[in-house]
Amino acid sequence: MEIIFLGTGTSQGVPPLATPNIEADLNNPKNWRTRSSIHVVLGEHHIQVDATPDFRTQCLRESINWIDTFILTHSHADHILGMDDMRSFCSLLGGVAMPVYSTEESLQRVREIYPYAIREKPEYKGYPAFALRTMPEAPKIFEVPGGRILATRLPHGSMESLGLIFEESSSGKRAAYFCDCKRLTPTAYKLAHEVDLLIIDGLRPSPHPTHLSIPEAVQAAQELGAKQTYLTHLTHFVDHDKVSTELPPNIKLSYDGLRVSL
Ligand SMILES: [Zn+2]
Ligand SMILES: [Zn+2]
Repeated sequence: MEIIFLGTGTSQGVPPLATPNIEADLNNPKNWRTRSSIHVVLGEHHIQVDATPDFRTQCLRESINWIDTFILTHSHADHILGMDDMRSFCSLLGGVAMPVYSTEESLQRVREIYPYAIREKPEYKGYPAFALRTMPEAPKIFEVPGGRILATRLPHGSMESLGLIFEESSSGKRAAYFCDCKRLTPTAYKLAHEVDLLIIDGLRPSPHPTHLSIPEAVQAAQELGAKQTYLTHLTHFVDHDKVSTELPPNIKLSYDGLRVSL
C-alpha cells in the first residue's frame, strides 16, 4: 500500500490569505500546506480521497495519473470543490462515470454543486461524470480489487465525516484516515485498533469546537495503539520543525508530498 499526502493543510491552506503574524516559519517548505487530501494505492487500485480546491496542482505535483474510485469524506468546501477537475480521470475510464462514494448527505451536496456531472457516462468526451454510490458503513465492508475499506462516521461539528480504514489484501497492512473530526467514536477505536498507519486530524495546539487539537490527536493515537501516526489538516499555528520536536517518537507531522509505503 502506498499513501500519498496530496495536501495536509486546514480549510484555508497555509499560509492563509491576508493573515499577518503567521506562526509557522514560511522559509520551511513543509509549512506551506495545500488543503487536506490523500491518494491511496491498494494493490493496483487507485483510490482518491477528497478533491480539494488545490486538487489540480496536487495531481500535477505528485504525478497522479489514474483514479479508479473516489471517496468523499464530507462535503465541506475544502474537500469537495476540486471535483470538477476529475474530468480527465473520467475520460481515462473510457466513457463510464467515476464512482463517487460518500454518505447520502454529502452525495446530496455533490448533486447540488455538480448537477451537470451526475450521469452514468460523460455528456461529451472531456466532461465529468459522477456515478453516486452510498458508501457502505461498518460493519458492512466495501470490497475493492486490492483489498477492502471500512467506513465509519465521525463527529465534525454540525455534520459527520467518514473515517476510512484501508486494508490491503496482498500485504495485510492497515491504514486509517481520520481527517476532520472532533473525536473518535467507540466504533472508530475498534476498527483502527493497532493500525499500522494512522492519519489523524491535529488542527493546532489549542482546542477547537469541530477538530481534534494536537494533544487530543496524540492521546487518540496512543489509545488506538497505532504503530505510526501522522497528524494532518494543520493550521499556520503549527510550525513543522518546532512542533515535531515536541511529539512522541512514533507520532509525526505530515507535509505535502509525503509518501508512506506499508
Ligand atoms: Zn477540512
Ligand atoms: Zn470539514
